[in-house]
Amino acid sequence: MNKDKDYYKILGISHSADKKEIKKAYRHLAGKYHPDVNPGNKLCEEKFKEIAEAFYILNDDKKRLQYDILKSFTSAKSAEQAKSQASKAYSDKKSEPEPASSKGKKQDKQFNVDFGTFFKDFTDKLAKTGNQEKKPHSEPRKSQPKKGEDINTEVNITITEAYNGTVRKVNILRADICGKCRGKRIINGSCCNNCNGKGEVSTHKQLNVKIPAKVKEGSKIRIGGEGNKGLNGGENGDLFLIIHVIKSSFFTFDGINVHCEVPITPTEAALGAEIQIPSIDGFINMKIPAETRSGQKFKLAGEGLPDPNSGKRGDQIAAVKIEIPLNLSEKEKELYKELAKARKFNPREHIIFETHSKTRS
Ligand SMILES: [Zn+2]
Repeated sequence: MNKDKDYYKILGISHSADKKEIKKAYRHLAGKYHPDVNPGNKLCEEKFKEIAEAFYILNDDKKRLQYDILKSFTSAKSAEQAKSQASKAYSDKKSEPEPASSKGKKQDKQFNVDFGTFFKDFTDKLAKTGNQEKKPHSEPRKSQPKKGEDINTEVNITITEAYNGTVRKVNILRADICGKCRGKRIINGSCCNNCNGKGEVSTHKQLNVKIPAKVKEGSKIRIGGEGNKGLNGGENGDLFLIIHVIKSSFFTFDGINVHCEVPITPTEAALGAEIQIPSIDGFINMKIPAETRSGQKFKLAGEGLPDPNSGKRGDQIAAVKIEIPLNLSEKEKELYKELAKARKFNPREHIIFETHSKTRS
């Protein structure tokens, strides 16, 4: 601690400056000399430390008073003189109205600590804050390597892709060091117009990302080093893909079993057929037996989701639905009439009379 330092001069303020003026001056100067703004500039770094030190002292009423006293102490001939001056200055301050008497007592006690101890504590604290910049600035030092920020991006995949795994093109915007000011934010004393003084710019990148098989909704996939650029040789951040499995209109899930509704033609229903339907890992063959009714359910064993513990797969349950083609041709209509003649068939025979009469009245 250099006792000859003039903290008022460092902040460019008068000895009567109030807290508002101190803060204003500090903010202005800290912004100008901050190591982030002037990376690698030792002079600026020293200046910034000095400004932080000045603010640390002058912004704290107690420390400011003690500093003020010390200033007169250093110019005085002897320590004795200083002490008497100190008590005088302190009692001057004390004559101002004090909100709480206990506070006054506390200050009294603290003030009796001799200057040597006080300044040792004080310089220790400063050394600490200077090195870590926890106070009053909490940003990490520019010269220390800093890991880049991670990037999170959401990826939508189908249930089939989730089951089989897939490769996706992922577009990301990530922060890179500005090529014009090389991250220094400032060129020839003025703000870099390429990055608007941020020191970094957003760049677009497309990545082919492999999504492993059997990913679940909400899974996070980490791609190391593909996040934002690290600073001062720090490693890059990571890219995280957050997987969303698109809800299918075809499949619904019930534990490890998969349900679906399969439309079939009247001919397929009447005569039976072998059809192809989607499963969660591709297409599978499904046998429709002759004389299948609408709504009839068929179990496709082992075509469901894998059990998380045993790995054994559930089933796919397919309910069929008979669909009548629209815009029948004259020939089709004739054939339907023929069918009706060939078979006296009343599918409503089993409906009880009560229901029947209600719907008619
Ligand atoms: Zn720039």
